[in-house]
Amino acid sequence: MRILIVEDEPQLARHLRAALTRHGHTVEVEGQGDAALKLALTRQHDLILLDINLPALDGREILRQIRATHAPTLVMMLTARGEVGDRIKGLAAGADDYLGKPFAMDELIARVEALARRGAPAAGTVLEVSDLRMSVPQREVTRGGALITLSPREFDLLQVLMQEPGRTFARSELSRLVWQGECADESRTVDMFILRLRKKIDAGARPPLIHTLRAVGYTIRSPEAPPNPPCSSLS
Ligand code: CA
Repeated sequence: MRILIVEDEPQLARHLRAALTRHGHTVEVEGQGDAALKLALTRQHDLILLDINLPALDGREILRQIRATHAPTLVMMLTARGEVGDRIKGLAAGADDYLGKPFAMDELIARVEALARRGAPAAGTVLEVSDLRMSVPQREVTRGGALITLSPREFDLLQVLMQEPGRTFARSELSRLVWQGECADESRTVDMFILRLRKKIDAGARPPLIHTLRAVGYTIRSPEAPPNPPCSSLS
């Protein structure tokens, strides 16, 4: 695997590099948070070993930005904060695994091998909300088995919504995740694309999946799922 080690403790970084290289991996090391994010966003890695406390940029923020790109890169958080709360927060933020320091190198290698066997995160391959199905690698969307043709941006927007059914996304968040700061009039652009998605996905007598929470944003959820309390003003 191509592995990026993001660790500012030089001795630990050296040991990690040596052990992973010995096991046949191609390894890059970066100790500065901002430089590590740049590497993560510009080069392809199969796995990133990510420390949390880093100079210049926190590991959590790096993880957030990596996940915002929807790249299938695996991320294992490495941190001295070994408490359960941090572990849950790390996994909820999109980490694939979590290892508390200090750890035995053998355990790290075993976890890396397990992640390699598992491959890209399963959630990245097929997403389903009710009878709406998205195959991410094929960039194919069907509803009730019927193929729906989407533009690349429409697909990206739908993917963001389908990755977290029931979660309400603000327009500004959708704009950042899908357009990455490229669109000037973010609210109108997001509204227009949502309208286009609705025409394609919720057309006809089908129960609607895309919902508006007034003054909040948009969510996708199956008709059986209850709306998020306390906001029930759905349209
Ligand atoms: Ca550190």
